[in-house]
Amino acid sequence: MINKERITNRFISYIKIDTQSDPSSNSTPSTLKQWDLAKKLAEELKEIGLQDVSIDEHAYVMATLPSNIPHQVPVIGFVAHFDTTPDFSGTNVNPQIIENYDGNDIVLNKEKDIILSPEYFEDLLQYKGQTIIITDGTTLLGADDKAGITEIVSAMEYLVDNPEIPHGTIRICFTPDEEIGRGAHKFDVEKFGAEWAYTMDGSQIGELEYENFNAAQAVITVEGKSVHPGYAKDKMVNSMYIAQDFINSLPRLETPEHTEGRQGFFHLSSIKGDVEETKLEYIIRDHDTTHFEARKEMMRDLVSEICSQYERECIKIEIKDQYRNMREKVEPVMHIVDLAQKAMEEVGVTPIIKPIRGGTDGAQLSFMGLPCPNIFAGGHNFHGKYEYVPVESMQKATEVIIKLAELTAKKYE
Ligand SMILES: [Zn+2]
Repeated sequence: MINKERITNRFISYIKIDTQSDPSSNSTPSTLKQWDLAKKLAEELKEIGLQDVSIDEHAYVMATLPSNIPHQVPVIGFVAHFDTTPDFSGTNVNPQIIENYDGNDIVLNKEKDIILSPEYFEDLLQYKGQTIIITDGTTLLGADDKAGITEIVSAMEYLVDNPEIPHGTIRICFTPDEEIGRGAHKFDVEKFGAEWAYTMDGSQIGELEYENFNAAQAVITVEGKSVHPGYAKDKMVNSMYIAQDFINSLPRLETPEHTEGRQGFFHLSSIKGDVEETKLEYIIRDHDTTHFEARKEMMRDLVSEICSQYERECIKIEIKDQYRNMREKVEPVMHIVDLAQKAMEEVGVTPIIKPIRGGTDGAQLSFMGLPCPNIFAGGHNFHGKYEYVPVESMQKATEVIIKLAELTAKKYE
């Protein structure tokens, strides 16, 4: 069993270090403060006794736990990110620990009257009797994804201390800038040298994910003709009305607020316009690659149709692919999901397998040649002051990592 106090203290030592990333910066890491935790982690991994501990010029931390068995086993990896979201403050995180949670409202901040209530956050009730780490209501917690880091470090330490557990070579990597979509950008997959890996970056206990959206962004620019309204007859072209036609021609119910599960959507995220020019920004999402392509085609067709109604090219569309569904890269190696599922079951966790309605770093890594499903890290309510993590979930995630190492060794005996 993973020591509860030890894992709690380790987690708190990480969340005390501010590592917020910044999308407006072009460097990697995007903020200098991310180095503080990267360096601490590298030191800690050396102390634990891992090999080849490295930290590159972009702050990616890698290390190896060497194999302790005579037979050949595929090298597997575990990945987590140490930055926190730019959307909410991660400065001076002041965690509070609730032991033996009784199922009632939790006061995060008495002065500011900030309450974490199971009436609104029903998930809390499944952790009755457990130890929950919460914020003081002024910052996020940072369980996303310092819980993942805590679990990987704790699992490596456990495997070093318990050499009777058989395992092949394990590689681990901690990345910067995941929250601004760049966690995989400078990831050296070749140097990492694993056959497959798992991101420890999911939410509630049991989550196991290997499907995510295909994603694209579309910008539609409508050109009008501005004329004095008093003399506009048969001359003015109001770009906003043309834009409105475009908007109304898309299926009204295929939007984020009307879809779930594997249903895709068009999401109008911004309109900016006047008579002369209107710009529409959309994101397009679909798990199914064929449907995804059809959505893009539908938008393009609509643009040509509207164009043909006017004498000139009054409307243009630019579509940019963002990321793809990792399923096509994971399905050919489905045993890596099966292993994770089995590892969870063997440590008493019920797997919750569902498609992600978003993207993960693992999706990018999968297309870079490192198939990479996502496993729960245990936290809830990411990116805000209501973020919390049950210590028991971190203990279980750590056990899942240990079990995965062991099951992989046994599978290739
Ligand atoms: Zn995350």
